[in-house]
Amino acid sequence: MMPIIVHTIPAFTDNYIWLFHQQGSSDAYVVDPGDAKPVLEALKDLGLTLEGILITHHHNDHVGGIEQLLTQYPVPVYGPKGITQATEIMVDGDTLDVAGTSFNVIEIPGHTLDHIAYYTASEPLVFLGDTIFANGCGRLFEGSPEQMWQSLSQLASLPPKTKLYCAHEYTEANTRFALAVEPDNSDLQQRAQDISKTRAENKPTIPSTLELELATNPFMRSNQLSIKEAAENYGQCKVSTEAEAFALIRQWKDSF
Ligand code: ZN
Ligand code: FE
Repeated sequence: MMPIIVHTIPAFTDNYIWLFHQQGSSDAYVVDPGDAKPVLEALKDLGLTLEGILITHHHNDHVGGIEQLLTQYPVPVYGPKGITQATEIMVDGDTLDVAGTSFNVIEIPGHTLDHIAYYTASEPLVFLGDTIFANGCGRLFEGSPEQMWQSLSQLASLPPKTKLYCAHEYTEANTRFALAVEPDNSDLQQRAQDISKTRAENKPTIPSTLELELATNPFMRSNQLSIKEAAENYGQCKVSTEAEAFALIRQWKDSF
């Protein structure tokens, strides 16, 4: 089986739109096109034809370009319930066969209630919108901390080498926060240096990998003693569950 090639399309100030196709094929699929213009340019530059649109959640910076893309490419739109342009509603456990690859749909509520991810074991990689970022996680606009922690835990059970295709370049600010939470984490210190170098060269820090996030991302590490202690210190209270630790770290980040 031919591997998938994923192209990075920067949009707005810090969004990434992902455009992918099977190696050797010009049939392309786009994930979360918040803006149509850079997608149309990329399709032209790369000589690709749009065959489908995948949506992770309803925020405008992820869906704003759908209408304009559909005027040029009347293709299927895959997305969670509530996406008005969706032609195929995706729910937990669904399989989506595109670009010669089989994706599993995973419901990951928290950032929004409708949020889903597209995972393929064949690479492995996952398109996960605004749920996990490099050294961060999405804000809780709709879901509860318990829901988000459950979603992060579910993603944490994917293979460690899984590439995480997040929708924003928030990595430097996230890393400053992560260092405030876990100043003694040597993996994080090393990663902070790597990130500064990458950003100084104006390169994306995404995709990340699950194993990297499990080593350095304070939100993904809410089940670790060091994060529990940091959460107790911040909240000046006793923390008894992983979800409580997560909730306090999320609250801390919101005001950081
Ligand atoms: Zn969002
Ligand atoms: Fe977003």
